[in-house]
Amino acid sequence: MLLEKQRVELIRFLLKAQEMGLIPLTFGNFSLRDKETGYVCISPSGMDYQELKPEDIVVVDVNGKVIDGTRKYSIETPMHCMIYRKRADVNGVCHTHSVFATAWASTELKLPVVVAELAALVGGKIDTAPYQPMGTMELAETVVATLKEQDAVLMANHGLLTVGVDLATAFKNAVIVEEGAKVAYYAHNIGKVKVMPDEECHRLRQWIINKYGQ
Ligand SMILES: [Zn+2]
Repeated sequence: MLLEKQRVELIRFLLKAQEMGLIPLTFGNFSLRDKETGYVCISPSGMDYQELKPEDIVVVDVNGKVIDGTRKYSIETPMHCMIYRKRADVNGVCHTHSVFATAWASTELKLPVVVAELAALVGGKIDTAPYQPMGTMELAETVVATLKEQDAVLMANHGLLTVGVDLATAFKNAVIVEEGAKVAYYAHNIGKVKVMPDEECHRLRQWIINKYGQ
């Protein structure tokens, strides 16, 4: 089977995301790009993750043309593909509807950076892409335009999208943003939020990049 190992890996992360509550039911989609072939493995549309088999994962090229698989691919495939075309450094994309990130994405406020992990990951505030209906090219375009060179973007009234050098990193970023959004929510409710200064966010980000040699 084409890219069997990668398809198995994708299922593993989808199940993990569901287990951690990042994806309610099937409201989210993950993909990874195989560096050798350049092909993208993406989750199928609306299938129960517990039932997923490697052959259910759809393999497409970066233009969304199906290379292998008989299932209908995720409705957000154009968004994933657009990111891979724009970002040569990205080989993993996670789109979730995790509660705290989505809650901040549904306000007029910016998600305040209050925890060091989040600062180290994004190096500052995470921008929110304006609302567009799910599964549309307009959504793909606003998400890509807002993401720029960052590793995370909130999607207004919808959810969160994170990227990484591989799927494991994109997944880790999805977890860190959700945790950061959760802490920010509680801090906001307790009282006046102490936001991490931009310079400290930048310093932490550089430290992480140099330390881990990315
Ligand atoms: Zn979605």
